[in-house]
Amino acid sequence: MIPHMQSLLGRIEAGQIGEADVYALERAAAVRHERMPPGALFCPVCQHSAVRFLPFGLAGRRQACCPRCGSLERHRFLWWVLGRHTDLLRRRHRVLHTAPEPCLRARIAALPGVRYLSVDRYDPAADIQAPLDCLPLADASRDVVLTSHVLEHLRDDKAALRELARVLRPGGWMAVMVPYDPALPATLEDPHLDDPAERLRRFGHPYHFRIYGADLPQRIAGAGFAVRVLDSRKVLSGHRRRRFRINRNHVLVCTRAAAR
Ligand SMILES: [Zn+2]
Repeated sequence: MIPHMQSLLGRIEAGQIGEADVYALERAAAVRHERMPPGALFCPVCQHSAVRFLPFGLAGRRQACCPRCGSLERHRFLWWVLGRHTDLLRRRHRVLHTAPEPCLRARIAALPGVRYLSVDRYDPAADIQAPLDCLPLADASRDVVLTSHVLEHLRDDKAALRELARVLRPGGWMAVMVPYDPALPATLEDPHLDDPAERLRRFGHPYHFRIYGADLPQRIAGAGFAVRVLDSRKVLSGHRRRRFRINRNHVLVCTRAAAR
């Protein structure tokens, strides 16, 4: 969510600015490089300490954004999970990174053993421009998929999950992050709702179609995955959550079922 999304809403509703331009602004806003004295906070992505992090989001969420690499809480948790709870750093992988986050893209591409490919519907800097439910990639051609905060933008997320299952090899895995509230009995969604103001009101973002609830793991499993849910409050000690500034977040590590 870009800090000035609220100020853009009038233009979004009037059709004066398109989705692609809004995302371009979002990417630009994510790049932050500010000098900050070292201190008690530590960013596991760029490995630097800081006396404080920067505010982020509509409500100016405090201490959210690393001043050096621009990572947010969810990026720092994803990076931690990839390093400590998957084999990404230990084996050779053909990685597909969807809607690549500026703070993670180069770091993942530079990992030894990673053959990196990025995909985005709008970002001209991505290796491929394509929607997630129609990827110009061969069956079973990727070992790993990283997809963070993309599925909620898609009208038909089940089609995208099937497509990701198709391009992953059996035994390969994907890391998924989405707006997810396990306390919600079921996903709140309306794939037919086009009005950005109404989507902002109901789902917290003018281009989201849903907030996922307790049925999320089942929903992913339905596309042919074994799903492991990693909760930041269980994976990280309180000390690390405070030091890294990581709030409650979930990464779902989803392994593609082996061929029968
Ligand atoms: Zn950082």
